Order: sequence, then structure tokens, then C-alpha cells
Amino acid sequence: MPPFDTYDDLLADIESRGHTPQILGHTPAQQPLIAVKSGGDKLPAIFISAGSHATEQAGVSAAVELIDELETDHQVYTFPCRDPIGLNGFAYALSLSLGTTPALQHLDDIAPLLRERGEVLHEADDTVVAIIGEYGYATHNLYYTAQGAENWLAALKGRRLYWPNRAPGIEGTDFMQRAYALIIDPAGEVLHINRFHDTPWAPVEARCTRDLMAEITPGLTLDLHEYGGDAFWFSARHQQNGDDQQWEERMADRMIAAINAVSTPLPPDDYLPGSFFTKSHLGVYWLNANERGEGLNLVDYAATVYGPSFTIETGMQLPFADRVAAAKLAAQKAVEVFGERHAQ
Ligand SMILES: [Zn+2]
Repeated sequence: MPPFDTYDDLLADIESRGHTPQILGHTPAQQPLIAVKSGGDKLPAIFISAGSHATEQAGVSAAVELIDELETDHQVYTFPCRDPIGLNGFAYALSLSLGTTPALQHLDDIAPLLRERGEVLHEADDTVVAIIGEYGYATHNLYYTAQGAENWLAALKGRRLYWPNRAPGIEGTDFMQRAYALIIDPAGEVLHINRFHDTPWAPVEARCTRDLMAEITPGLTLDLHEYGGDAFWFSARHQQNGDDQQWEERMADRMIAAINAVSTPLPPDDYLPGSFFTKSHLGVYWLNANERGEGLNLVDYAATVYGPSFTIETGMQLPFADRVAAAKLAAQKAVEVFGERHAQ
């Protein structure tokens, strides 16, 4: 299956598979945020999600395919795309403020458009940040540079800021084909849609995620992401009790063994995704949310409240179909061990 061009395509695909999704809420663009129930009748339920970072489309496609393909007796709830605006891309995100979809041919077209149609908040080097209507727009990624104390961020408190994919060579995420959504919280901290799972203020996408999890109390949570490299890895979470911890470790072992067996590349021995991870074996990293800060992401939150949970990361430099296949294989292996845990 090719990557989804638009969120409407994703919705049509799910409908064509005979599913009637549960509507969890709506994005500010009035797109339905949806979950699909599949699998068997058995509890506890399994929760699968993807697409909080719109540049990571293999996770979205894998989640959609797993709705029908995942082999389990357990109830499965899939929230396949947590950022429909971002999936539709940068020109779409701009259309929310402009009223029409601008014709953007090249990345260099963005800065003149922002200057002409918006109020420029900040310019430095090649980066332009502007506010147009309700939303902020930037030419470049500001997640790692905006610290929250900048005066120009004041206009964006409690708002969203979109920037276009600029990374070359990603099948399924061409230039501007996806928009990355930054969420600036009311205090001015610059975060994104995979945060706000434990905070009083949250964007609607995170709020819907939390509400769904409260409804289904998942015994296993898998969030399908991608990273910029050319290998496969996943992050596990330290669990709240010994039993959950033991099963988290068993799932991790089974997942990485299966990935290894099909010769999907794993990261080099000295790779660490960030200072707040510890490595247990090649391709398996344990994320320590307290060291990272920024509150809890979906999987941190699942580990704190519900139990075993993983963030699966496929390498965006690999062919799209290989990335989808790797995400699905890892998910199936975690679910296999989950089934053993709950076997009668
Ligand atoms: Zn991600």
C-alpha cells in the first residue's frame, strides 16, 4: 500500500475495509480524529497509535494495515493518525489561515509568502516565522532552537506552529508533503503532539488520546514512529511493578530477535537516540521521561498508568514498504508475547 496522500484517503481506506470508526473528536480543521476497534473479544485491550509526527508516515500506514492483519484474540483499538492536519501537508496547514491552498512549488517560495501574507514574528539566517490568523508558520524546524523565552513566541502561546518537511529522500514524506506541528503551550514551552498526556492543558489530539486510553485501559500500548536514520530501533519503558517489567523485557527480546532474523538493519553499537535513553541490547533503548523533561508522551503515560508499552522507530531513509513491514513485525511480536501473558 502506498503512503496516504491525504487524510481523506486514509479515512476512505478504513471505510473500504468495512470499518466504522469511532469519532474521538475533531481537529481545529474539523477533521474527525478516529479510532477503529478490531481483533477479538478478549481483554485487556491492545492500543496502537501513530502519526503524532506527520513526517513519520510508515507508522501511519502500518497502523492502518494492522487493524485487519494483527493476529490476536484481544480487543484492538487503533488511533492511526494523531495529526491529520500535518498529514495533509504544509500548503494545507497554510490554507487554514489563508482560506485557499497556496501554490507552493519550492521550499524557497515559503519565506516570501509568509512575509507577504503574515505578520513576521522572527527572522534569523534563513528562518522566517510568521503568524497568519490563528496559526504560526515557519520555514524551518524550530523544535530544537526555540527555548520558550524568546519574546517573539508570545504571539504563539496556546497556538500551533507548522513547518514543512525539508529533509530529502524520504519516501512518503516529500518536501512540504507533510507539515510538522509544534504546539506552544500557554506558558510558551515549545512542544508537539506527542506530549501533553499528563498535563491539564492539552491540544485536542492529545486529549482524545487520553480519553480513549481511559476508556479502554490498554494492557499493551504501541506507538509507531520513525526517525531520520536508516535502521530500526524501539524504546521500552521501565514499568511500575515487577510483573509488568518482566513482560516488557520479554516483549523487547522477542521484538528485536524477530527484526534481527529478517535482516532489518539495527543502529550501530554506539548509537543512542538521546541522553535520556539507556541501551539494554542492540536496537533496544529504555526511555527515562523524567530525565528528558517536557512531561509524558503517549508511551511514557501508558507505562505510568496502564502497563507495558513501546515506541517503535523505523528509519526514514529505508524504502517505505520495508519500514511498514518492520513496524508491523515488531508490533505482531509484542502482541504474541502479550497473548502468552494472558493465555488461560
Ligand atoms: Zn516521532
